[in-house]
Amino acid sequence: MSYHLRCRRCEEVIEPAPAEACGRCAGPTDVVYDWEGLAGRLTCSVVEERPRTLWRYRELLPTGARVDVGAGWTRLVPCKPLSDLLDLDLWLKLESENPTRSYKDRTATLAVSAALDHGVTTVCCSSTGNLGDAVAAAAAATGVEAVVLVPEGSASAAVEAEHRDVHVLAVRGSYDDCRRLELELGSLFPWGFVSGNLHPYACEGAKTIAFEIGEQLAWQLPDAVVCPAASGTLFAKLTQGFAELTRAGLAREPLPRMFAAQALGSSPIASAFADDRSISRVHADTHVASLAVGDPSHGDLALGAARATGGAVLALPEDEIAAYTELLTETTGVAPDASGGAALGALIAARQSGMIEAGSQVVLVVTGRRPGSRVEGPHVRTIDPNVADVLAALGLDS
Ligand SMILES: [Zn+2]
Repeated sequence: MSYHLRCRRCEEVIEPAPAEACGRCAGPTDVVYDWEGLAGRLTCSVVEERPRTLWRYRELLPTGARVDVGAGWTRLVPCKPLSDLLDLDLWLKLESENPTRSYKDRTATLAVSAALDHGVTTVCCSSTGNLGDAVAAAAAATGVEAVVLVPEGSASAAVEAEHRDVHVLAVRGSYDDCRRLELELGSLFPWGFVSGNLHPYACEGAKTIAFEIGEQLAWQLPDAVVCPAASGTLFAKLTQGFAELTRAGLAREPLPRMFAAQALGSSPIASAFADDRSISRVHADTHVASLAVGDPSHGDLALGAARATGGAVLALPEDEIAAYTELLTETTGVAPDASGGAALGALIAARQSGMIEAGSQVVLVVTGRRPGSRVEGPHVRTIDPNVADVLAALGLDS
């Protein structure tokens, strides 16, 4: 399917290229599809006959390269213990079943595919958790070079891929130092950046979770969906995914009511929702590393998704998240990242307050496994946060 990029702010149309920002107003860009060209071509039976990866929805994805590391088609399983406890028909979408055990495999698959489409030979990302693993795996499978920046001593990142084209650089500094280093590298080299010029493509990967939920429930959309929200990207893209299923004629409205969970110490989207205003940047101060985003890139879209579907964005007290994470582990056998616990806490709060009614069919998205051990091993080089150290580590300094 053909597609292009469009500025979210001024609606300028941009030809497909690695481009995070609009050339006219510097606003963020999104992928938009040729819906007229798609009319009648994508049916339930066409999709059902295809291989069980996220590429079964290829017409609704912005790349022709189709890197395949086995991302997608994770199980959707009924959860009887929590269904009984909460008087719901609760299902879990187990994103921990992706190749590197989080939904970021979908993100990385799209990022590296877009890199191949546009002739980008080096892909870079900063990571405190699962993204680094996912990008390393997708790059190693394709011969694209990967540069993964992780804060030194980060307890949550465990980049496992040892491959000649994967460079894991432990940066003496914070995640923000890694992001600053990315910007510097971007001004010097024609690389692809998963959270930068490849982001409009990369973040389309997350919506395939919604496509799969729809298909796995026999093309009937659930009453409500609950997931964690940090940048708001996953939440906004899930909502977009359900809307695209109905627009393509694969499922019928109404859309699920969308509920998002944030940690109270980093809850700019939940605060804006509660006060019925737009997003204000906050200083992120939460012990849940995967939810520590104070300036959410898709915050406004996430806020709109919750409002438009009759859902909510809820902030969970920091000291309750561990107990919810434990409850999810005990009742499901899945050991989720703490953001999964936050999502369960939001579901319980929404159920107790009556926002979600008894008997509703609800899907809880378990975004990934509990993070592994700290980054180490012969494939990891420790550097200071400057370009010269990166180039030395890559052997490009002579
Ligand atoms: Zn613009």
